[in-house]
Amino acid sequence: MKVGRCPKSQPADPQPATIVALTVGVNVIMIRVAQKSRRTGRSKRKGVDTMRSWKENGMRVLMLVLFAALLVTGCSGPAGSPAADLVIRGGQLLDMTSDEPRLRPIKGLVVSGGKIVRIIAADSSEELPNAPEVIEAGTNIVMPGLIDAHIHFRLGVPEPALHYGVTTVMDTGPCGAPCGDDPNAFIIGHAKTVNAPDADGPTMYYTGNKLDGPDGIEALEIYRLQSLEEIPEKIDELVQLGASGIKVEENLPPEYRRKIMEEANRRGLPVVGHSRDARESISVGMKFIEHMNPIARSVATDLEKAAKEADPSDQMDFSKVEEFIQLMVEEEVYLNPTLLGRYGAMSPWAQEFYEEDQQLLETELFAKVPKEIAARYLDRGRPARDMSPEEKAKREKGYANVQRFIREFSEQGGLLLAATDMGNSRMPGIAIHREMQLFVDAGVASYKALLGATRYPAEMMKKADLIGTLEEGKQADILVLGSNPADDIAASKDLRYVIRKGKIVRAP
Ligand SMILES: [Zn+2]
Repeated sequence: MKVGRCPKSQPADPQPATIVALTVGVNVIMIRVAQKSRRTGRSKRKGVDTMRSWKENGMRVLMLVLFAALLVTGCSGPAGSPAADLVIRGGQLLDMTSDEPRLRPIKGLVVSGGKIVRIIAADSSEELPNAPEVIEAGTNIVMPGLIDAHIHFRLGVPEPALHYGVTTVMDTGPCGAPCGDDPNAFIIGHAKTVNAPDADGPTMYYTGNKLDGPDGIEALEIYRLQSLEEIPEKIDELVQLGASGIKVEENLPPEYRRKIMEEANRRGLPVVGHSRDARESISVGMKFIEHMNPIARSVATDLEKAAKEADPSDQMDFSKVEEFIQLMVEEEVYLNPTLLGRYGAMSPWAQEFYEEDQQLLETELFAKVPKEIAARYLDRGRPARDMSPEEKAKREKGYANVQRFIREFSEQGGLLLAATDMGNSRMPGIAIHREMQLFVDAGVASYKALLGATRYPAEMMKKADLIGTLEEGKQADILVLGSNPADDIAASKDLRYVIRKGKIVRAP
């Protein structure tokens, strides 16, 4: 596999001759225009003169533009094909459009202007155009870039995120007091930097300030609503600041949550974030449940007891679960369990993840991670050793219940999101691969885990017209992998190329 550069490594078939012919053509036309102009001589009528020189200059400009365009696209292919910036030649397409894994060999994929302009089937007679950059994909897997729909931007997040194939993120709550006195300004400023065309980071969407109820959490990054009337105005204010979604906290009275849902729906914005009780949130129209504790509080054996606990996952009553999953599936609720954040340190991978984090934090890729944040990443991932036997038993039971819940949820068509909370407490970039691994450990099909990092988050974020699948017209956020992650989820890390908006940002 290699990146070719036309014309050096990709000699363009008809082009050199065409260029010569056209160069000659342009010159002939321009000479003729000039001769005609000389023959006519200077007209005494100024108007006509101006008109003619405008025509001549216009003609020259037009010819020069045509000539320049030809030079630029000098290695583009057959007439009529779009001018390509990048061509992926060969490959097996895992476009993520289907509900079950579907892999199909392709002749290639054409990128122009940051978009996928053409996907050519393997058996098509259509020729691939040449392009300044060519990736020879052979039998590699070609799939959409990953989307992490739940991050908290911190310094040191963008570079590893992109390196690990995350081409889009959604920040769902800006850093508070430790990052200055204006959390919205903090996230807007960083979004500008990260979203610049040449930035070394994923495309970043954000929610800005979190919304909570009158008795909600007191924190700089949380806005406590004091009345229902205030909601439309507050949402408009966030939209003005560039918010692509609304983040809610768990202490919102149901009527506040319902009003937020109505106002956000009216503006086409997703609402993400915390709930106290998942059933209550779903009943007022919420389509996103973050973490597993609000689920556990809805299906616990003793609801009153569970309501008072931070994480009553160990108390799930599975005779209540089937009906609850049905409700979530019918209501098309996205579930973002954040397994890595809550249970990663108890998983069989804990030691391996922990050692890997220690090594990674020493590398150049993670060099921008501030020391105190690095310490937090390590601390949160530390394998859970120092627990009382009771605490250990409770957490193990909780994890087993959560695993069973998400397996059944996925099997019944539930929309699982592999979004990670990275930046806040989880190692950027690598987190999404681990979250998918934990899904698979729970019994979720690898392909469903991948959907939770591609098409599902795109749909949840209401960005499915742009990202999440590989289709003509979509943004060219593309991964080229050495092996198929739909067969074995560990292959999601077998990255050869990462392409963001049509630009190669990682190559072997
Ligand atoms: Zn979070």
